[in-house]
Amino acid sequence: KTGLVWFRRDLRLHDNVALSTALAECEQVHCVFVFDTAILSALPKHDRRVEFIHGAVQELDASLRQVAGHAHAGLLVAHGDAQTLVPEIALALSANAVYCGRDYEPAALNRDAAVELALSGQGIAFRTVKDHVIFERMEVVTQVGKPYTVFTPYWRAWLARLEDTPLGPCRLDDAENMLAAKPAAWRNELPSLEALGFERTNLSALHLGAGEAAASALLADFWPRLERYDSARDFPAVKGPSYLGVHLRFGTVSIRQLVQLAYEQYLAGNQGAKVWLSELAWRDFYVQILANFPHVVGHPFKAAYNNVQWEEGPTALALFEAWCQGKTGYPLVDAAMAQINQTGYMHNRLRMVAGSFLVKHLGIDWRWGEAYFAEKLNDFDLSANNGGWQWVSSTGCDAQPYFRIFNPITQSEKFDGEGKFIRRYLPQLGQLGKRAIHAPWLAKPQELTVAKVVLGENYPHPVIDHGEARARTLARYAQARDAD
Ligand code: FAD
Repeated sequence: KTGLVWFRRDLRLHDNVALSTALAECEQVHCVFVFDTAILSALPKHDRRVEFIHGAVQELDASLRQVAGHAHAGLLVAHGDAQTLVPEIALALSANAVYCGRDYEPAALNRDAAVELALSGQGIAFRTVKDHVIFERMEVVTQVGKPYTVFTPYWRAWLARLEDTPLGPCRLDDAENMLAAKPAAWRNELPSLEALGFERTNLSALHLGAGEAAASALLADFWPRLERYDSARDFPAVKGPSYLGVHLRFGTVSIRQLVQLAYEQYLAGNQGAKVWLSELAWRDFYVQILANFPHVVGHPFKAAYNNVQWEEGPTALALFEAWCQGKTGYPLVDAAMAQINQTGYMHNRLRMVAGSFLVKHLGIDWRWGEAYFAEKLNDFDLSANNGGWQWVSSTGCDAQPYFRIFNPITQSEKFDGEGKFIRRYLPQLGQLGKRAIHAPWLAKPQELTVAKVVLGENYPHPVIDHGEARARTLARYAQARDAD
């Protein structure tokens, strides 16, 4: 029996369920990755994620050749429409089955259904396996068998199930004998980034390495900090979180490995590990929300919020543009937007503050912000991004109540008290004192002069007044609720 493993969100060898299953069920195994034009054609040329994937694919190819011990093994790399290419490649290789990790996004489910249909017409099986999450959509449910829509009880049930869930790693038995040599036509070099229509970005300047080795290095760096994660994670100037999001997104690290390591530490009483483990559970939580309630793509989870009248027209567009460019005049929001624009990462606390500012200060539809983050975030994942945006806009399951509105100035004072993070991303405010830096327009004119800050010239006036914005938002939401 010949198997074809189709790598997608699992660009690693270690603990790879699809590869392990294929090795267990077949006599010889081929591996393929498709640079899918159905996805790539919508992306800008300078997309950091494409460069990341390209690097991870190169590493995966080398690792497969190393395990197989012969130069002609390795990854078949194709460029085109995956939906048509995968069945064609499977047929050309005389494969009996295609193996891959399950993907829960609506577009991926449609693609996979089409691939399965085409394969079945050729008598080839399509075997999807759980790899991307710990528990799938109906594995952690309420006592009456319904999906959870509130995190805390979900987390309790998730944790209880973990106790008797084996977490691997899954084995790659006999891989050296079973990984097949590539047919001659496939032995050419992997396509370059340029051949795929993309350009190099600042990934290497950011020291954001792709692939399993880079993920292991990040994990090793994070592990001694795990114990302090709960206290350090909210301060954007501090190296508190793991920065593993992009690796989880593309599967260059195994979620089971991370959960297993964190769970051991949690059982040993490590408070940081408990909080970090709960973040990994949030990831599963939002994946199951997306899988069980696919209407969240493009719609509020709670129907009542379909009625919110968001700002529209040229003023809203100009305010949105100011937000995207980090020119709102609120330093913490602007520094956050500079971070995402320059690096593709944004600290979790800042995703909440900047997201909330867009929706609850500027009155702009959360879907605009969701789309902007989707384009910029290296770790963009439809489920977590949608869940995060619905949380900040109070339209989602288990969301922040709509009347709780982050004050961007007090958030700044509390989580970036010295203004260290702001200074890093807004050097033009670097000379301001630690009080003025959170709201420069409230500073004494003399302090601004000494610090060489000229509002309206090298830093914007605030685009909106906090008090007025708050009142308008409360009215906007109350009206939507009353109309329901
Ligand atoms: P750590 O703090 O080290 O956490 C470890 C991992 O846990 C993360 O990598 C992620 O996989 C998971 N995780 C942590 N918090 C959450 C959460 N709230 N929801 C789901 N998973 C979580 N996360 C994404 O992975 N992709 C997104 O597109 C995304 N968009 C977001 C948008 C908004 C508006 C908000 C408020 C949050 C969003 N998050 C998203 C969640 C969170 O901000 C990031 O996962 C986290 O900042 C990534 O950094 P890290 O890897 O250093 O995380």
